Amino acid sequence: MATPENKLAFDDGWQYSPAPESTDHIKVKKRYGLFIDGNFLAPEKGRYFDTINPATEEKLSRVALASEADVDKAVKAARKAYGKWSRIKPAERGKYIYRIARIMQERAREFAAIESLDGGKPIRESRDIDVPLAAAHFFYYAGWADKLEYAFPGRKVRPLGVAGQVIPWNFPLLMAAWKLAPALACGNTVVLKPAETTPLTALKLAEVVRDAGLPDGVVNIVTGAGETGAAVVGHPGVDKVAFTGSTEVGRVIMKALAGTGKKYTLELGGKAANIVFADAAIDQAVEGIVNGIFFNQGHVCCAGSRLFVQESVADEVIQKLKDRMETLIVGDPLDKNTDIGAINSARQLETIERYLAIGQEEGGTMYQSSCKVPKEGYWCRPTIFTGVSQSNRVVQEEIFGPVLAIQTFRTFDEALTKANNTPYGLSGGVWTDKGAKIFRMTQSVRAGVIWANTFNKFDPTSPFGGYKESGVGREGGLHGLDAYLRLEA
Ligand code: NAP
Ligand code: MG
Repeated sequence: MATPENKLAFDDGWQYSPAPESTDHIKVKKRYGLFIDGNFLAPEKGRYFDTINPATEEKLSRVALASEADVDKAVKAARKAYGKWSRIKPAERGKYIYRIARIMQERAREFAAIESLDGGKPIRESRDIDVPLAAAHFFYYAGWADKLEYAFPGRKVRPLGVAGQVIPWNFPLLMAAWKLAPALACGNTVVLKPAETTPLTALKLAEVVRDAGLPDGVVNIVTGAGETGAAVVGHPGVDKVAFTGSTEVGRVIMKALAGTGKKYTLELGGKAANIVFADAAIDQAVEGIVNGIFFNQGHVCCAGSRLFVQESVADEVIQKLKDRMETLIVGDPLDKNTDIGAINSARQLETIERYLAIGQEEGGTMYQSSCKVPKEGYWCRPTIFTGVSQSNRVVQEEIFGPVLAIQTFRTFDEALTKANNTPYGLSGGVWTDKGAKIFRMTQSVRAGVIWANTFNKFDPTSPFGGYKESGVGREGGLHGLDAYLRLEA
């Protein structure tokens, strides 16, 4: 059995991040262990991996690589803790979760800075969106802990047991909150695996869980890459799997789960249509297009990556969009003026660049803003493609970068047919002055979330999830509770 990392090894000093003065207060440890049974432990095989700052390519920290044996230990700790956690008074359980939310708020600045350092997103977004929304998620589900019987009147509600949760790198803290908060509120215990490129805020959250006094083993965080995720999903001691990530890996997981009886939710990819009618408030729509595709460097499952503009206003919208793109600042994620930060990893940048080449080879016209980008780090200028058609790969496939494919339409029905011509069904947007058109479109586009005259708005009370290849199940709101409960008559 591994011993807790000795003081010297674990507390080998704070490493002040290698970024500018403004980040002096950020404490990132040189090395992180696995958070299992209330302690940070060294991994059984002693293996660690680097996490880097994608804006500078500098190493931030070394993080434990969990093997199957470590995952097994985490699942066993979660199983042991389940006996206690599932039986404590629901109102007490709620109090622990409220405490997580409050401590997270107190440490919001540090969370935001680390999120931006580790993942490359602009500090304005981590500070104003990711961290507050993550805390809001804990507050929201804390409130449900002692009201589950009211959420499902006439039904007996039981937790599922141990939840194995695997999350991606685009919203590392927020996705951890989406996973942990409802699972805990319903009385489950958890083994969570963050993405390899962005483990730091989940580990910070482990410290919050510990400081909030949760019983040992209720939350376990095992860092590593895809193999660690597969070990979590495949562990026979896991009763429920919650996965957010690519459709490709989602398929692998679904196969692995077939016949096991484990309950699962899969939140997968997307290729959302953002539809602008001629009667829309055009300037507002242009802002919505920008937010839809350039928010978080376009690393957003629900990004408005396919734009459909009504023909009569297409020239105007595209010109205004290009003008607006020129004003976007790409660069240092820690600078409060930055609009678009660093691409999350070298691998993701390669993927995006491959699609930029494909789009041009397919005959699309590529336009990029003329902004300067830093020499070190991974960057992509805001990009649009015009002159593309439904069959083009940049129109059909998820790029997961700041790249927008633009097409035009004449009639409502044409827009609808084009919008639905996709294997995905996660989200969508519609811009128009007419309420009737909003209702018709939102009822006809096959997607889990559709925004009207806005885009990328999130709230813990609102369910989120997809149709078709975008996944199975919902997170958020009442639906998010259902995913972590066994409902009996
Ligand atoms: P990914 O490659 O599918 O990885 C997601 C997570 O799964 C990571 O933690 C990954 O580990 C792990 N993983 C990889 N292979 C695995 C396996 N065989 N078994 C179990 N776990 C495995 O996706 P990503 O590139 O990180 O994230 C981007 C994708 O997530 C996009 O497609 C996006 O649309 C989707 N997404 C969906 C939602 C939603 O709510 N629908 C939200 C956000 C993102 P490592 O990466 O550490 O190797
Ligand atoms: Mg990183």
